Amino acid sequence: MRTMNSLMSEIEQAKKIVVCGHIMPDGDCISSVMSLSLGLEKLGKKVTPAIDWEIPSKFYEFPHVDKIIPYSEELQLSDLLIVVDASSPDRIGGFQSLMKSGIRTIVIDHHKTNTYFGNVCWVDPKYSSTAQMVYHLLKLLDVNYDEELALLNYLGIATDTGFFRYSSVDASVFEDAADLVRQGARPDVVSRIILDSRRIEEFYLEREALAKLKLCCDGKFAYSYLEKESFDKYGMTTNDFIGFVGELRSINTVEVAMFASEASKGEAHVSLRSKCYFDVSEVALAFGGGGHERAAGFTLKYEGELLKAIKEVIEFIEERLRDSEN
Ligand code: 5GP
Ligand code: MN
Repeated sequence: MRTMNSLMSEIEQAKKIVVCGHIMPDGDCISSVMSLSLGLEKLGKKVTPAIDWEIPSKFYEFPHVDKIIPYSEELQLSDLLIVVDASSPDRIGGFQSLMKSGIRTIVIDHHKTNTYFGNVCWVDPKYSSTAQMVYHLLKLLDVNYDEELALLNYLGIATDTGFFRYSSVDASVFEDAADLVRQGARPDVVSRIILDSRRIEEFYLEREALAKLKLCCDGKFAYSYLEKESFDKYGMTTNDFIGFVGELRSINTVEVAMFASEASKGEAHVSLRSKCYFDVSEVALAFGGGGHERAAGFTLKYEGELLKAIKEVIEFIEERLRDSEN
């Protein structure tokens, strides 16, 4: 209660607000940035939506997403920074320098690995998505929803719950989503843009990743990886190939899945997923990243080959998996 009061009073006092999401943005990040920005604009604030990273192209089919800008020095003139869906300062790219300049900062997030890096932090891992937290905040602030705001807010709830499939889904998720649908959100539009708009090149990459797929620990652990050459071959970037780790997890015997994608030589993003009991956020934390129990990730820096570099992660997971069964 005290957190919500401080958060609302910070917002009330601010005129110029930057709402910033995390690097490597996903649906929840883009949804939270855009719906909070539109909501605060309706309250008369001057708001800049911002993400210091390239936005995956399919999200431009949603309204207003083209207004999201990367970090720039002029933003130093703002009164308040609201960071959404990011668990630590290294996740916000250039906006760390805005924080260093001493701007008041609010953090709104649902990652249990959050480091509480703002002046006011509303962090609650019980929420399915940061977008659902934004929905509750905008309701508290008495914001009137229109169709575009409802659609943008629904986007993050749908994507971060795997379209209402994960263990984070409780009755409140359906209630809030239903309210957004009543106010004009279109579930069919969201699923078409997110799920039914895959480029053929994604399938070619999937074919290469499947050729490298390994199953170990009696089929409980599945992993694969793709090097930069593969992405280059099809004119794709690591940004265009998210979601494959979920395919690996969907194998019937699998508890833990890992997928590593090489963004540039010597740097890869590692995505981790689990199904029932293995806490992948602990693995991600051990390698300098973070996330949730069932979905986490980190960036790996190395010299030489990607496969050699991920050996250490593979062994770490195998050992933990064995321990968790004893
Ligand atoms: P993904 O594997 O889809 O990139 O990320 C899964 C989850 O882990 C997301 O909730 C994301 O925010 C978090 N995550 C991914 N990479 C990192 C990272 O490098 N650092 C932190 N702190 N969290 C990450
Ligand atoms: Mn999220």
